[in-house]
Amino acid sequence: MSQRPGFPVKLSPPGTAPTRSSPGKSAVAPAALGLSGAVAVPRMPLAPTGLGLDSGAVRARMVRLLAQQGVRDARVLEAMGLVERHRFVESALVGQAYEDTSLPIGLGQTISKPNVVARMIELLCQGASGKLGRVLEIGTGCGYQAAVLSHVATEVYSIERLRGLHEKARDNLRPLRVHNVHLIFGDGMLAYPQGAPYAGIISAAGGDDIPQAWLDQLAMGGRLVAPTVTSAGQQALVVIHKTPRGFERQVLEAVNFVPLKSGVA
Ligand code: SAH
Repeated sequence: MSQRPGFPVKLSPPGTAPTRSSPGKSAVAPAALGLSGAVAVPRMPLAPTGLGLDSGAVRARMVRLLAQQGVRDARVLEAMGLVERHRFVESALVGQAYEDTSLPIGLGQTISKPNVVARMIELLCQGASGKLGRVLEIGTGCGYQAAVLSHVATEVYSIERLRGLHEKARDNLRPLRVHNVHLIFGDGMLAYPQGAPYAGIISAAGGDDIPQAWLDQLAMGGRLVAPTVTSAGQQALVVIHKTPRGFERQVLEAVNFVPLKSGVA
């Protein structure tokens, strides 16, 4: 069970901006580390640890704010309300876990703001009714977004190139018993053919281009959401819809994600 402290009553002011990670070394074959277990995913949040203080009310406030900010998809709002974000951040940052801010997760990487996580998952779910099928996440980080995705998709494959974060995500997710999340250590630029084709592919790191492997492993009708440098030289959210007529590409708002890097480290 996680040794996280209890959720504090008082929230601290928002925190820090993204920092950059160091370049990768050589690529290795990804080894699947499914979190499959005998126990079903709890549909309700676990009780907060420690002093018995309730994080549910603060999370409900975060969800109300997300709705005010324009997130409409009930599946996404519900999932955001279910996952205890404070379990995924360092103890010292627990007080900021439900603020609309990105937070450092170690090794120079960051967890995106709740608003960006919700917005991207909403874009991923667009046009699909009910649950999505198999989804691939590039950049597991601390595992938070994978946990949110586990509520909107039947299977989540999440790949991380930094071993330290891959292991951290495994530790964070283990107590949640999310049986449909499969963590992979490897280079997400190559996607993960073993789980393909994917109904959705979502990247938490931004590159100069969308790797061809992502397009190849997207199912017909599937959607890909990724921060990408556009022709204007700025990083923006790009949505790609694979249709029988070809790929439809939409460039949306400017964003600021950590870089997509090749190889593992
Ligand atoms: N979704 C994460 C956010 C992590 S930040 C969360 O909820 O915490 C983005 C992550 O992408 C970083 O951990 C970074 O190491 C990872 N990343 C960057 N390039 C990658 C690649 N080619 N393959 C896999 N992961 C990558």
